[in-house]
Amino acid sequence: MVSEHDSISERRRMMESAFVRRFGGAPTVWTRAPGRVDLMGSHTDYNEGFVLTMSIDRDTWIAARPRTTGRVAIYSMNLEGGSVFPLDNIDHDDTHPWTNYVRGVAKILSDLGYELTGFDGMVHSTVPFGSGLSSSAAIEMATAVMFRRLGDFNLDPVSMALVGQRAENDFVGMNCGILDQYSSALGQEATAILLDCRHLNHQTASIPPGVAVVICDTKAHRELTGSEYGERRAQCEEGVHILQQFYPDISALRDVSSEQLSAHAESLPPVVERRCRFIIQENQRVLDLARALSENDRPRMGRLMSESFAGARDLYEIVVPEMEAMMDAISAAPGFIGGRGAGAGFGGCLVALVDAARTDEFIASASESYPQKTGLRPDIYPVRAAAGAGNLDF
Ligand code: ADP
Ligand code: MG
Repeated sequence: MVSEHDSISERRRMMESAFVRRFGGAPTVWTRAPGRVDLMGSHTDYNEGFVLTMSIDRDTWIAARPRTTGRVAIYSMNLEGGSVFPLDNIDHDDTHPWTNYVRGVAKILSDLGYELTGFDGMVHSTVPFGSGLSSSAAIEMATAVMFRRLGDFNLDPVSMALVGQRAENDFVGMNCGILDQYSSALGQEATAILLDCRHLNHQTASIPPGVAVVICDTKAHRELTGSEYGERRAQCEEGVHILQQFYPDISALRDVSSEQLSAHAESLPPVVERRCRFIIQENQRVLDLARALSENDRPRMGRLMSESFAGARDLYEIVVPEMEAMMDAISAAPGFIGGRGAGAGFGGCLVALVDAARTDEFIASASESYPQKTGLRPDIYPVRAAAGAGNLDF
């Protein structure tokens, strides 16, 4: 069996070789940042609500060596190509768009007045791309930690998350909320966190012993996420705007109760009402799941997750057929406690809570039944809560 230590040193060696091949010489500075999985709280972040989230033991590493030329050269072992850019004039790279996540973080930091040091960098990630586990926040946070370390400046983790979000919003052009970057920057080992997206703080929310968190990747690629995501956001904003006529004090769906929404449901276009109803219910489910976990109430965990899945399908309309097929497969698997979609939806992963003693049986069963319905080979694996972004010191 490969121990964790072996796989860490193996990964380090592999990245060192890639670095030497690309740049000649060895890397001297290493950083890492994890992906994340939301146990509850789809699309609640940009509604200033709550999310129950966990940084996972799938992460992105950057191996680097500082340069004195004021340039960054960035390559990835996961994707072809890379690019070199000057820190005093940071532009987009349309040929290698993935480098825009790195460029974006550099641009925002530099606009904020931080003194940046250039570097040669090699990226490697074990977070799958576009599957709802937030590989984009992981590369952003690993980049921010690298600049912080090389520039030797202070940048607290919440500010770092905000820098990543701005990079993704303003430079990459994806209008995401704060969930991904916050989780990657401030996630903690051995516990989930209950994130308050309005106040940008969190408390820990531990997962009971005996309950495993299992990622169920449908391998269905997300499509239209950019435009659909923007549309959902706009519908929530429209709902708030209309409801403000009746409740002038509200500024986000976070402030609206189910009763308030029901009282004025007729004033909203039906689709907007459905979107708002989902967010308001989902937000409450985050708090309820945190409590169910603390009380180790498995039936309640299962019910809340099923309700979240049903709401995502019927009200928010972010569930695709492969996600339904996966939900069927995991619901029938031994050890299943509950499951729902992770991330923005439209494909990607489901997250399941599973009786830890039956994780292997669960994985074997769902891995066998899911392809029968979809023809797709899923990737189903347990994850553990891992520390947030930081330096890697070997
Ligand atoms: P998600 O964040 O859910 O994985 P996104 O579409 O937001 O999906 O971000 C995925 C994109 O982030 C990739 O297509 C790629 O452009 C970039 N990216 C993430 N990790 C890496 C990496 N290790 N190397 C190169 N690009 C990466
Ligand atoms: Mg992303």
